[in-house]
Amino acid sequence: MKAPLLDLEPIHTPIRDELRQAVLRVLDSNHYIGGPELENFEREISAYCGVKHAAGVSSGTDALLISLMALNIGPGDEVIVPSYTFFSTAGSVSRLGAKPIFCDINPITYNIDIEKASKLISSRTKAIIPVHLFGQTVAMPEIIQISQDNGLHVVEDAAQAVGAKYKNQMAGSIGTFGCLSFFPSKNLGGIGDGGLVMTNDGNLYELLLTLRQHGATQRYYHSRIGGNFRMDAIQAAALRIKLHHLDEWTKIRRANAAYYLDRLKDLEIQRYIQLPVEFPENFHVYNQFVIRTVNRDALQQYMGDHGIGTAIYYPLPLHLQECFRESGLKRGDLPESEKAAEQTLALPIFPGLTNEQMNIVVETMRRFYASV
Ligand SMILES: *Cc1c(COP(=O)(O)O)cnc(C)c1O
Repeated sequence: MKAPLLDLEPIHTPIRDELRQAVLRVLDSNHYIGGPELENFEREISAYCGVKHAAGVSSGTDALLISLMALNIGPGDEVIVPSYTFFSTAGSVSRLGAKPIFCDINPITYNIDIEKASKLISSRTKAIIPVHLFGQTVAMPEIIQISQDNGLHVVEDAAQAVGAKYKNQMAGSIGTFGCLSFFPSKNLGGIGDGGLVMTNDGNLYELLLTLRQHGATQRYYHSRIGGNFRMDAIQAAALRIKLHHLDEWTKIRRANAAYYLDRLKDLEIQRYIQLPVEFPENFHVYNQFVIRTVNRDALQQYMGDHGIGTAIYYPLPLHLQECFRESGLKRGDLPESEKAAEQTLALPIFPGLTNEQMNIVVETMRRFYASV
């Protein structure tokens, strides 16, 4: 591989000793679930994201699930979600017996189309889940406006957007809840699964802590039905180390994006590709650098043949997934989501990618378009 889509090696090598020490500290502590490492991590990440409370959980998926559980979402309720996102944004709604209502996206940002979302609100709608896709935030003031006008809760899916900002507000700090994922490929990745729910509401935070351990207010006394959504101490310890480096990695991701934006501009001018657009009120953290092209499948094949890793996020929008056939939606109903699924391709952007590797990515793309 000349340029893989993601390589954790150059990210972890400089902090390997620190990570090892953190892991050994947990091993020797005999305290493996929650505990002081988690409490410290929760305090540190709350400060970083500018929220009052944070509850570490088992994954980003469980962060979404437990947020919806805390809002009592269940059968008969509707939750508006974008169709073009990772599965769990909608899967978490269905798992509670509620109905995900799929909304189309804005073709420039790939984020939920807020005007279309406002037209999907019904008397059954309880919440909306804006997803800050690829690391760029949704226009949150507009989301907050339509949710206040209609009495909806906002659960931000900030799984791809830790450290991203809308003006001066951090992704995940604006809605009723904000959810993060620490899946290893996210900008703040653990050494296994992990997630986080953030909120400024003290009562909801207490409820999260209860739901995180089977709804127990006191051991073996259950006020609600929750689940085992706890975070391991080893993840918290590793994430504490990595949180110190997050801003520096974000800076590199943004510099890598700037490099591509400059070097691929002429392919955009010639209308071969569409580059990502960062809106002025946004601070984009580029979890993915996603281009759009009508020759997507051929380009991906060519890049792969020349040692360059790329990925398709996501090849089938959620409203067309077999498991969501009850939505009744069919091909053609959410055209921008469907088009994005056919045309987008993520290029390598991770911190640790060298300029030489990025140059190979750019030159390979040029050779491909010179031949089409
Ligand atoms: C990664 C991701 C999740 C789920 O996080 P996990 O930690 O993998 O469970 C949810 N939503 C989006 C948009 C994601 O990218």
